[in-house]
Amino acid sequence: MSLNEILGHKKQIEQLKNAVKNNRVPHAYLFSGPDGIGKKKIAEEFIKFLNCADQDRVNILSCEKCNSCLRIQNENQPDYFYITDQDGSIKIEQVRNLASSLSFKNVITKYKCVIINNCELITAEGANSLLKIIEEPGENVMFFLITSNENRVLPTIRSRAQKINFQQLSPIELKELGEKNNLFSENMDFLIEFSQGSFGKLSSLVSDNDFLEELQEFRSIFREVKEKPLFQVMHQGKIFEKDKKKLLRFLDFYIYTLEKSLFNYSKETINSSINEIIKAQEMLVRNINPRFVAEMVLIKTKLLLKG
Ligand SMILES: [Zn+2]
Repeated sequence: MSLNEILGHKKQIEQLKNAVKNNRVPHAYLFSGPDGIGKKKIAEEFIKFLNCADQDRVNILSCEKCNSCLRIQNENQPDYFYITDQDGSIKIEQVRNLASSLSFKNVITKYKCVIINNCELITAEGANSLLKIIEEPGENVMFFLITSNENRVLPTIRSRAQKINFQQLSPIELKELGEKNNLFSENMDFLIEFSQGSFGKLSSLVSDNDFLEELQEFRSIFREVKEKPLFQVMHQGKIFEKDKKKLLRFLDFYIYTLEKSLFNYSKETINSSINEIIKAQEMLVRNINPRFVAEMVLIKTKLLLKG
């Protein structure tokens, strides 16, 4: 695998390659765009290239054979660090551990590279500590901050990184990626449409046997929101009791269905309802009780959708 084999994101990959060609690789990037479209993969491939002992700088290709390339492929490269949220946030201990690892000399490669996934979920304390490292990163340290929610990234962090915006994949790209990765489903066309450009979402749905069954249930909840009285709608919250994953899937379905119901409601109504659903998704990230979140979002959207 190399940067050239990545499907889609041509413009963004070109931007990375040009930075190398012009000797202007910044010490921090912010990769922003929807979940599950390959931002982390691209960061990893770029890191592989930067640290390759036998790199092709004309075509920006890594050799795939040197010690560093092989170690990155096996996720066993001592100069590469990956941080992501634990229980809904990135904590100061994680940043402190990173700082101490970065203070050692590089083990085998030129660059020490750090990926911080879901960087908008860093705590205020963690962010302060991270800022210090980003401001004085030491020689040859590079950061890749990854987010699907750029507005929630602290401006102090945002302003220190060069931003690259990624877009969702097209249905054709998703289809091709699905075939490359041996994903099969009888309902592939629907799943591709429902995944809205996210390969991560597509691959988890294809292997999720419960999903198509759930879909019937989700459709009937949506009908109830439109037709039934408030108390009955609210009652549906109980099916998400302790099932955060199912509620997340329902909320995705809810947004998808609302976007497709434009002819039934005004644009304002749809947008306000979607905003309530996004708030609910954020509450789940913060580990708020799923049943409570479900009840809240059903009540709020019911009130909006009744007009
Ligand atoms: Zn190599």
